[in-house]
Amino acid sequence: MARKPTTQQLATWDRRYLWHPFTQMQEWEQEEPLIIERGKGSYLIDTEGNKYLDGTSSIWVNLHGHRHPTLDRALKKQLDKIAHSTFLGLSNPPAIELARELIRIAPKGLTRVFYSDNGSTAVEIALKMAVQYWQQRHPEAGQKNTFLHLKLAYHGDTIGAVSVGNIALFHSRFKPLLFPTLEAEPPHCYRCPLKLMYPSCNMACLDPIEQLLQRRHKDLAGFIIEPVMQAAAGMLPQPSGYLTRIRELCTNYHVLLIADEVATGFGRTGKMFACEQEGVTPDLMAISKGLTGGYMPLAATLTTDEIYQGFLGSYDEFKTFFHGHSFTGNPLGCSVALANLKVFRQEKTLARLSSTIKLFSRWLAPLAALPQVGDVRQRGLMAGVELVMDKRTKTPYPLSAKAGHRVAAIARSKGLILRPIGNVLVLIPPLSISKDELKKTVEILKQSIETLQIDLSLTQGTPTNR
Ligand SMILES: *Cc1c(COP(=O)(O)O)cnc(C)c1O
Repeated sequence: MARKPTTQQLATWDRRYLWHPFTQMQEWEQEEPLIIERGKGSYLIDTEGNKYLDGTSSIWVNLHGHRHPTLDRALKKQLDKIAHSTFLGLSNPPAIELARELIRIAPKGLTRVFYSDNGSTAVEIALKMAVQYWQQRHPEAGQKNTFLHLKLAYHGDTIGAVSVGNIALFHSRFKPLLFPTLEAEPPHCYRCPLKLMYPSCNMACLDPIEQLLQRRHKDLAGFIIEPVMQAAAGMLPQPSGYLTRIRELCTNYHVLLIADEVATGFGRTGKMFACEQEGVTPDLMAISKGLTGGYMPLAATLTTDEIYQGFLGSYDEFKTFFHGHSFTGNPLGCSVALANLKVFRQEKTLARLSSTIKLFSRWLAPLAALPQVGDVRQRGLMAGVELVMDKRTKTPYPLSAKAGHRVAAIARSKGLILRPIGNVLVLIPPLSISKDELKKTVEILKQSIETLQIDLSLTQGTPTNR
């Protein structure tokens, strides 16, 4: 029997053998990795038994806490039957039942479920479906094969998803591989490029989008957007009514609306799906992160009967959607996703959420007054706290100052795990977080930001020196 490796051994092997995502490994190799062994509720527990609040819901996936008995049981029960069988030419009970449940809770008009296993592939599938739909259903429409998306968009890391993304730091290197797209300015009320204020602006930022659609709709298969909140852009919320107007524009100009609900889905904004905030039904909807309550990699692309019909025909018409993955419709993932939805019903998660969201707003409010904080942006249980070097001019810290990472490092030493996006500290706690835990989460973030002031004053004048 091999002995259980010590934390020190694990750390050594991690640095020797692993390559972590979105991580400068040269720095990682100099640091002590935090190795999470267990979890319980809102807490992560490392190999030494230290507890940390999971302030990112393990990168936005966990909903009902770690080790939820209903989810644990569902997974174990399915394991006693089968772990996986293919979805190519075969079906399985949990995948069938889950599709039925998803259609029941999805925005009205979405009627079909196509499975995959992560958010990026759910987006890829939506893009491919859109292009093939126009070819087969409306050949008279001509070459509708490009996409409109917002600047600062993030829709995943595979090449198609990167093509419709626009975060220079992540995406610019891959430009030679990307297909051409059209981009539009997103609403950005804190730094409005038009220097206007909502609501008196009348959402003037939509005018250029309408003009673009007018000019280019003949080339456009779809408009992909994260509804309500552009999350990885640094938590940029859209003003109320924005999504409704986007839906109208897409309908008027015959462009499919693709909602990327990978981050916003499953209660994050206070409704099951963010599209519900405005009663909008997209033509295609990508979901993943919260789908299994954060237990298993699973994703789905939902669509309408209109689009589905475009793919029907006899075999030799070759209208089939030729796309699939080895783990499409995985029974373990689908079982735990069913249990996730059951917990929503049993614990009345959405109804209980509204008071948690109100408290979250109340506790976040004082952060806006800190001299280091330019803006606090919140929708539901998603929040971004943007650090600035100069509050009056809104001058950001240079990325090289790593202000966000430094605050996160301080927070970790105080027992809270965060993952910043540049200068934006992101808080996405599990929906099940208790009031005390939530209060503590915001309090630790506040203290950590206050501590940062002292750190940066030491490097004043040379903020790019690190
Ligand atoms: C995380 C995310 C993705 C990508 O999902 P992965 O599972 O990481 O591939 C796509 N879109 C949005 C909005 C996301 O937040």
